[in-house]
Amino acid sequence: MARTAPRPDPTITRDLSPQRANCPHCGTRMRADYANRRTVATLAGLTRLRLLIRRCHHAGCAAYKKPYRPEAEGRVALPHHEFGLDVIALVGRLRYAEHRSVPEIRTHLTGRGVSVSERTVTNLLDRYDELLAVALTDDRRLKTLLAGQGRVILAIDGLQPDVGHEVLWVIRDVLSGEVLLAKSLLSARRADLAELLGAVRDALPVPVAGVVSDGQHPIRWAVARALPGVPYQLCQFHYLREAARPIYEADRHAKKLLKKKARGVRPIERAIEGRSDPAAEAVRGYCGAVRSALTDDGRPPLAASGLKLHDRLTAISGSIGRAEAKGGSRPS
Ligand SMILES: [Zn+2]
Repeated sequence: MARTAPRPDPTITRDLSPQRANCPHCGTRMRADYANRRTVATLAGLTRLRLLIRRCHHAGCAAYKKPYRPEAEGRVALPHHEFGLDVIALVGRLRYAEHRSVPEIRTHLTGRGVSVSERTVTNLLDRYDELLAVALTDDRRLKTLLAGQGRVILAIDGLQPDVGHEVLWVIRDVLSGEVLLAKSLLSARRADLAELLGAVRDALPVPVAGVVSDGQHPIRWAVARALPGVPYQLCQFHYLREAARPIYEADRHAKKLLKKKARGVRPIERAIEGRSDPAAEAVRGYCGAVRSALTDDGRPPLAASGLKLHDRLTAISGSIGRAEAKGGSRPS
């Protein structure tokens, strides 16, 4: 996909590591050998993925020094793709559920911050079609590849670019990065998901050694139903995000209120424009501190932006208080 302008810098960074520490083939503990980086255009913004890669160092293992990549990587984007799966899911929906033309899809994507050419939209549509056309039963290449690997670790993800619209369900093999089945469903009824998993299970030439997904209840139920006894691991990133959601919501609300209170930096700066006396310099410094506190976002789920803003504003206010005590006057 040709680009005429260089890509801007990523606005989001995500660190992903393998959930699994033991080799899926021999069970030996794998070593964290190196890191990879890739950049993917997603609906949330241009995302830099920092990926920790593990490898088995057990001589004689079928997977000796074969890279084992973070399981969650494939949820963000397919191997070698520059665009996120969420973008592909959205393009497919706009085309097939809403019957939009390629230029209309391009306009829609641009409006959501994903800059693409019409040519790229056409490519993304091709990817979507390919994804939905994967049929494990008659794909010889895929079957041979999986047979050579001896087992699969399944990941199931539901991609829903917009709430209330259909979900693109993708079942992939973590070990090869291959998509085994993709289907767009209007709802995520657990029986439908169990059916999808069952279809993959029946078509596989090898056993399922494990399943990875986020913690959604319908998925858990479907996995238990279609693959009883198969070890099931929640993706820690999603698990953590789910657990942190109520805190995140409260924090976001608090931040909004704090931001309201800290408004009005610009008029103060304007009032001292052209002045270079120490008092004006001090005021300018405080204005700069407030401004940078307002734009400094934490990354959920581990950093709370609201709490961070509160800490910074408290520190600024404390500093003004100390300056005042030393004989300065509080800026209005
Ligand atoms: Zn091994």
